[in-house]
Amino acid sequence: MKRRELIRYLSAAPLAGGLSLHQVSEEVASPYVTGTSGPERDLISELGLKTFINAACVCTSLTASLMPPEVTQAIVKGAEEFVLLNDVLDKVGERIAKLCRAEAATVTAGCWSALVQGLAGAMTGMDRQKVMQLPDVKGMRSEVIIQKTHATGYHQALTNTGASIVLVETAAEVEAAINSKTALLWFLNRELSKGQIKYEEWVALGKKHKIPTMIDIASDANPVDNLWKFNEMGFDLVAISGGKAMRGPQSTGILMGRKDLIAASRLSAPPNSGICRGHKVNKEEILAMYVALERHLKTDHEKEWKMWEASMAVIVNAVKGLKGVRPEVFVPEIANHTPTLHLTWDEGLIRLNGKELKERLWNGDPGIEVMLGGTMGEKKGGIELSVWQLKPGQEKIIASRLREELGKATVKLANI
Ligand SMILES: *Cc1c(COP(=O)(O)O)cnc(C)c1O
Repeated sequence: MKRRELIRYLSAAPLAGGLSLHQVSEEVASPYVTGTSGPERDLISELGLKTFINAACVCTSLTASLMPPEVTQAIVKGAEEFVLLNDVLDKVGERIAKLCRAEAATVTAGCWSALVQGLAGAMTGMDRQKVMQLPDVKGMRSEVIIQKTHATGYHQALTNTGASIVLVETAAEVEAAINSKTALLWFLNRELSKGQIKYEEWVALGKKHKIPTMIDIASDANPVDNLWKFNEMGFDLVAISGGKAMRGPQSTGILMGRKDLIAASRLSAPPNSGICRGHKVNKEEILAMYVALERHLKTDHEKEWKMWEASMAVIVNAVKGLKGVRPEVFVPEIANHTPTLHLTWDEGLIRLNGKELKERLWNGDPGIEVMLGGTMGEKKGGIELSVWQLKPGQEKIIASRLREELGKATVKLANI
């Protein structure tokens, strides 16, 4: 640059603050189009996406949860600067570990990814050659022991590493299955009641044989003490979703536990090349995950519970007087621990089954998504619905839509 040009460039630069991303020196016309987004642009309607009231669950297909403003602000702000990926993972990891009383923690691309990354760490340790070798497990511990009743689908994540699954039922079977190839004892919290072996015994088996234990508590951020309970109980690794009950970005999760295992697991994750290289979480979502966790821990969970109960009461009160309708509220103990309504009715009086009511609610305006009976609870038939993901006031819409559809399907007395 010639001296004269340099002076011209400097004099065109703003006095305070740097150039923003779309600003260029005044002398060069900006190549960037402005106004491609902003508050006035509504991509959801532009793309013709259907929105709906989520009275169902924090299920992946429904996009799980809505992020609160403090979480989306962390995304917007975090996206504006370069930081080192390892640096943000280190610092956020330290904070999360402290909040959850774990030795160490890291942000992963969801709970599924936490399972893959955690197991990879248990298999490779700090050996970078092994990290690059996966999913070829030659020379590595590569068997994961799971109770048969816990092998309900999510355990497939573990096989991403190349590891194989060994199914057991009793503690004696665990002891018989453990050998020099055993990498991990894995526990699925939501199936606690179905397995013969409970937390303490599982942890004790791991400690006795010096095999790491891991628990999947994906959808169990409520009750809130679950966030530290399993670390304190002695599980070596704990995996949880960020975008379910905690309302962080849907693509995030947390892996926490033993320092050496977390450090080893990071070798398989970005910015390193390894089996989780594709499970990247960007810096702004790492920051947002931290904010979502902080917010969840600071929430007054008793008040929140009362708020859920009040919303549920609006719905129950609207339908309980209808002839033949039976509303029953229950709380799943583990996984989606929140008041849940099981609504059934006399199908002789109201000519509609659960599937039909679910469809009519979905196709209404606004669409409402509910679950079929038996999704969260034991009892089948009718529908189930929850209120924890509602925006204020949506409980009233649900109440009136339920009355409307149940009323329309009710056989007129004269016709019976
Ligand atoms: C949702 C879920 C997962 C996967 O979690 P993501 O955060 O979607 O990756 C794993 N295990 C259980 C029990 C879950 O409910």
